[in-house]
Amino acid sequence: MPPSPGDVRFQLIPMTYNQSNKSKMMAGADVTDAPKKPLVFRLYSGVPEVVRQVLLERGWIEYNEQEHDEKDWNLYWRTTSFTEAEYENILPWQRLNHHPKTMGITRKDCLARNLKRMKGIYGSALYDFSPVAFILPNDYTKFLAEYSREMLENGGTPGYWICKPVDLSRGRGIFIFQDFTNLAYDSSVIVQKYISNPLLISGYKFDLRIYVCVKSFHPLTVYMYQEGLVRFATEKYSLNSLDNQYAHLTNTSINKFGLSYNSEKERVGSGCKWTMSKFRTYLHSLNINEMLLWQRINSIVTLTLLTIASSIPASPNCVELFGFDILIDSNFKPWLLEVNFSPALSLDCPVDVTVKKGLLHDLIDLLNYSDVDHLRESQKVTKVSKVSLTRKTHPSTSSPQKETGLACKKSPQPKKKIASQNMENVPSNKNLCTLPAINKTTHKPASFKRFSKVESIMPRSRVGDFILTFPFNEATVKASQKLTNVKAAILEVQKLLNSIVSHKGCGMKRRKEDISSNCRFVGKEQNGQLLWGPKDPPLLSVMCTNNHNDSFR
Ligand code: ADP
Repeated sequence: MPPSPGDVRFQLIPMTYNQSNKSKMMAGADVTDAPKKPLVFRLYSGVPEVVRQVLLERGWIEYNEQEHDEKDWNLYWRTTSFTEAEYENILPWQRLNHHPKTMGITRKDCLARNLKRMKGIYGSALYDFSPVAFILPNDYTKFLAEYSREMLENGGTPGYWICKPVDLSRGRGIFIFQDFTNLAYDSSVIVQKYISNPLLISGYKFDLRIYVCVKSFHPLTVYMYQEGLVRFATEKYSLNSLDNQYAHLTNTSINKFGLSYNSEKERVGSGCKWTMSKFRTYLHSLNINEMLLWQRINSIVTLTLLTIASSIPASPNCVELFGFDILIDSNFKPWLLEVNFSPALSLDCPVDVTVKKGLLHDLIDLLNYSDVDHLRESQKVTKVSKVSLTRKTHPSTSSPQKETGLACKKSPQPKKKIASQNMENVPSNKNLCTLPAINKTTHKPASFKRFSKVESIMPRSRVGDFILTFPFNEATVKASQKLTNVKAAILEVQKLLNSIVSHKGCGMKRRKEDISSNCRFVGKEQNGQLLWGPKDPPLLSVMCTNNHNDSFR
């Protein structure tokens, strides 16, 4: 959340750089005495203004080619991909806002292909959260076979399908069809089963934009943002008007041009967005078990990330904010529509301001920067964090590691300890070097005595509105060390889902008095505010329970 003016964490220490400080640093002195440099952000063209605004509010300064040395920045933010060279030349104090090679989930065709592969390996019962999809032109025959099969099953009436260009966003080029002769395309597209029974609010379709921060892929460390956006279509939903994009597509980029955008729509209000909190209040008013929904969405996110986890090169200097688009159907089943690389951060309305500014502040908190940068000053630490993009997986030599561990080529390291940047837990392998505390999040809950091994590698369970969703128990902590043990992690997700879904009284719609009594992780009202997600994040609860093999009962 935005820092309050009196919050010392965010007060920048004025720059007091002088030569004597510099000499101390060069001699390997403790950097608590080192010159204080403000943190520097670098923006590539096209980055939404709110990113600059938030970082300036926090006392960072903006990188300027004329004033700064080429290496003189801490965070580089861009809405497009970084080049291989940018990953390879990263320095210890620098962070990039994208992990390498995440296209496997952020491009529609790659996502469809990867989910299909996982379905094949782990079963369609678990990977049943994404609508059946075909990548055309290649899968045209398979699509026709499925189309015909479904039509026969429905007594000759064809189902509904949606066609989407694989590499476009913001609803561009999308159309819905029933008759396959209306399917026309001139580029690669995916044709996906159209979820024709969406949950509606006063007749309006909506979907959820869930923000997910992958703080690291090795070990896999995932945070879901409690707040988020609910994005409405601006005309009432009807299957009689498949070509009305204001009724069928929930993209803001489309609906802000709808004739009804500014009008007061029944229950929805004006505009086309709600905050997630408002949606949860709405669910609560219907006595819906929002925790079950949250848990299902949470599992969708984890299972999706696990499809690429082991193919992402080790890149500890990277962090990424993804936008997961989730549609809820009339049976309250959540469906994954797509994963957005660089989710929109433009501020179109007051709801955007509330959600996106808070999101960015919390994201920067999650990165755990100290208020000034000592490392950048001691540029004796040069070129250390070479990330090999050709390496398929995280080298086992670097583990188990705290988030301070970094796999890289051997490179010059300062001989003495740089105390304030916390270089503890230096891996013994001489080919490894360390990352400063910027990325360190280990956290020690009071009731953690029995689990010292896990304790030492456990990420913080909550930062602002970011809630740790993976790892979520001791087994997933273990599964995410070294190479991610995808199978073991999936097994845990499956166990968690089964125990929650089969839990007596944890059906989607329940009597009000059941809501806070039957499930272990329930939404509670606190100071009049609904909490989305567990009040005590799962990992803590799991660690505190006596029987941790069966923690969710
Ligand atoms: P884009 O990247 O262009 O936004 P999406 O896959 O997110 O593409 O689709 C845009 C919108 O179309 C979604 O926000 C949703 O409202 C609708 N939509 C997409 N796929 C489906 C589907 N399978 N069933 C129902 N609605 C869908």
